[in-house]
Amino acid sequence: MKVYEFNVKTKLPDALKPLEDIAHNLWYSWNWEARELFRMISYDLWEECGHNPVWVISKLTEKDFGRLTSDPVFMNFMDTVHERLKEYKDLPKWFDLAHSGKRAEDMCVAYFSAEYGIHESVKLYSGGLGVLSGDHCKSASDLGIPFIAVGLLYRNGYFHQYLNTDGWQQQSVPYNEFHRMPLRQVTDAEGEPLIVNVKLGSRNVSVKVWEMTVGVIQLYLMDTDVITNDIEDRKITGQLYGGDSDMRLKQEIILGIAGARALLAMGKKPTVYHLNEGHPSFCALERIRQYVHDGVSLKKAAEIVKKSTLFTTHTPVPAGFDVFSTDQINRFLGPIFAETGFNINQLMGFGRENPFDEHEGFAMAICGIRLSTFRNGVSKLHGQVSREMFRKLWNNALEEYVPIDHVTNGVHLPTFIAENFKTLYTRYMSEAWLHKPYDFSVWNDIEKIPDSALFEAKEKQRDRLVMFARERLKKHVIKSGGTASEITKADDVLRSDCLTIGFARRFATYKRGYLLFMDEERLEKILNDPERPVQILIAGKAHPKDDGGKEIIKKIFHICRKPQFRDKIVFIEDYDIEVARHLAHGVDIWLNTPRRPMEASGTSGMKIAANGGLNFSILDGWWDEGYNGETGFAIGSGEQYDKEEYQDYIESMEIYDKLENEIVPLFYNRDRMGVPREWMHMMKQAVKVCAAFFNTSRMVMEYTDKFYIPLHNLYKDISVDNFAPIDEYLEWKDSVISGWDNSGFSYTNVQGDSMEMGSDVVFEASIVSPKIDHTHLNVYAVVDFDGESGVLKDPDFVKLSHVDDSNGGHYYKTTYKIGRAGKMKVGFAVLPSHDFVKNIFELNLVKWA
Ligand SMILES: *Cc1c(COP(=O)(O)O)cnc(C)c1O
Repeated sequence: MKVYEFNVKTKLPDALKPLEDIAHNLWYSWNWEARELFRMISYDLWEECGHNPVWVISKLTEKDFGRLTSDPVFMNFMDTVHERLKEYKDLPKWFDLAHSGKRAEDMCVAYFSAEYGIHESVKLYSGGLGVLSGDHCKSASDLGIPFIAVGLLYRNGYFHQYLNTDGWQQQSVPYNEFHRMPLRQVTDAEGEPLIVNVKLGSRNVSVKVWEMTVGVIQLYLMDTDVITNDIEDRKITGQLYGGDSDMRLKQEIILGIAGARALLAMGKKPTVYHLNEGHPSFCALERIRQYVHDGVSLKKAAEIVKKSTLFTTHTPVPAGFDVFSTDQINRFLGPIFAETGFNINQLMGFGRENPFDEHEGFAMAICGIRLSTFRNGVSKLHGQVSREMFRKLWNNALEEYVPIDHVTNGVHLPTFIAENFKTLYTRYMSEAWLHKPYDFSVWNDIEKIPDSALFEAKEKQRDRLVMFARERLKKHVIKSGGTASEITKADDVLRSDCLTIGFARRFATYKRGYLLFMDEERLEKILNDPERPVQILIAGKAHPKDDGGKEIIKKIFHICRKPQFRDKIVFIEDYDIEVARHLAHGVDIWLNTPRRPMEASGTSGMKIAANGGLNFSILDGWWDEGYNGETGFAIGSGEQYDKEEYQDYIESMEIYDKLENEIVPLFYNRDRMGVPREWMHMMKQAVKVCAAFFNTSRMVMEYTDKFYIPLHNLYKDISVDNFAPIDEYLEWKDSVISGWDNSGFSYTNVQGDSMEMGSDVVFEASIVSPKIDHTHLNVYAVVDFDGESGVLKDPDFVKLSHVDDSNGGHYYKTTYKIGRAGKMKVGFAVLPSHDFVKNIFELNLVKWA
């Protein structure tokens, strides 16, 4: 039988047209009223369509149209929401206020990421990296940053998880029906679908471009499922992180290369490229290729690209990077770059630690680092770990001097804070918390919220979480063929008034999902204390190929089924943004047990803190910064052990100890009103300290001020006269490198009458530099306090002024006011200086006195 298939589009009556507008802007993912509007149409439909407004609309019938248009309450509400969306778009935003009228006028940031987690209904993400990219876009919109995002439109989303009767993870892959997603296909000037082409091996691959609106910014998504493509190539964007290494390489070519070409084809002119993690690093190579194609030399092209790129790394271990072999790069990138005369060694050099080592593969992260001006890790600790990890790229420079910075991650507060918390926050702090979450002073008013009101809000959310967990459990029991009595029993698990611990993460080994279960007897006692009961909710997926991770899940699943635990520990299947949100709203304690320093940042704990939950975690990633003794609880004090088994033992014992002696008593220590006063103090500290800092508004502002604006300005400086300033810069660089060996100090001195706080000291130095003009150099006194003798660990670089030339040298001097007491250490360093060098250690040229 032959079946013809068509996607018949709904045609909404004019009166309901606003629904389409609202459904096609992911603003709904952080606007509760917008979601409520679609739920009002039909609760069942909303659930059936996976909270997807576009899908809900597509299911409406003529009869529904009649029902809705004749319902004044609905129509009114729709207009209100539509008006809100307009207001949101028109609202003056931070960027316009902070950077208006400056050179930022034609600024355009292009952000590249392999995944975007914006809402559970748009399945283009697998976990933390995607949720972070989604939150980055949302805050870029809130702040009004001139920003466009680029990604891949996967035919199949990341897998759904369900556990079989033995607790073994089963996977099913969700199919993305593009016509049910808030997408619009990008067209060219003639109104035809825009196609960009990329050569992959011997074949041409055509790529369609789709667009999705997130508030006021656009996200462009590449799609190779084009009818004219070879069947193999149609599958490239088939599956998020699917397939083998060749497939990964092809996906990354489509992301970086087709992505960059699509921007060009649409007439976009980014001045800043932000590569989020190594996946999109080929974007930098493609841009080099474009310049070379236009007649620029390879060296100059690489420098131009470098001067307009920011690279963010998210991995604390080298094993986390994609690395491709020479053969792979040759096969797939060779043909793309052949016409520009690149040879394979030149290409490989960008991705190698040592460009000339033919045994090395091509690491995407190294390519990103080599071809960027700014690089950053995603927490303070991760910045340090990254500097350590990439030292070799700077001739094994000291960790402190490796030019990799950090911007600590955040979460998008409006997406992850529960509605009743939002209401409370607004009542006591005004909407400032929403519009200016980065303003610490706004959060001080959290103290004004009565303890009882805040506790009540938490109790309500905990209750909702318990309901949600029971519903999910019921679905699981039904799916695995449970009996009627087993199904009803699902309604008896968990309690609403019980200290609730959440534990949800990818079941990768380093996250140590087993740590809490190392002593079952002790755990049983804690959970089943009749006066002070405790319950645990667990969620998380294991990578489909990670049997070790699946074993951990299976083990936990079997523990959940033991009689002493069955009502106390529940595994919620299919961890996604919806589950994450419910957990964030309702849990009292968030447990996180990574092996330090394997968690680059982590963001789930931030979602919990913003909802007044307390983190109970290893001092790793963001928690190393967020923990202050009052915001939650620490496991250990940042130790790193060599023996993993011993570490597991010590840290699991500490989990039980702290639960028994601190956490549980604190939670159940109630006053006459039934409010745990000390606990409330900590809840408020968690919100005040953590929400104010670990949010993506602060994060995107930091990216903007530290990197986007300087990069944009740099681009403006270098792009005049066909990038002539880059020619001068390259000349300068060559001359400094060749003359460096002859430069150095001939005299240094520190002079002060009284060495005490507030008094002045004079730093003096003379340098000789026969081959480099002294205006190309900066001389610094390097001042440090305390710490190890003879070592400068975290110094200030105090610039000395050039005074005169004497005896063939150049004499420098400055006066310095001593700002503090302690053991003061002073060293002297001379470094090359150029406006285009944004980190004094970038060129790896330094002479110490
Ligand atoms: C926030 C979030 C994460 C991040 O989790 P971490 O364990 O903190 O890295 C992962 N997955 C989902 C679905 C999330 O919402």
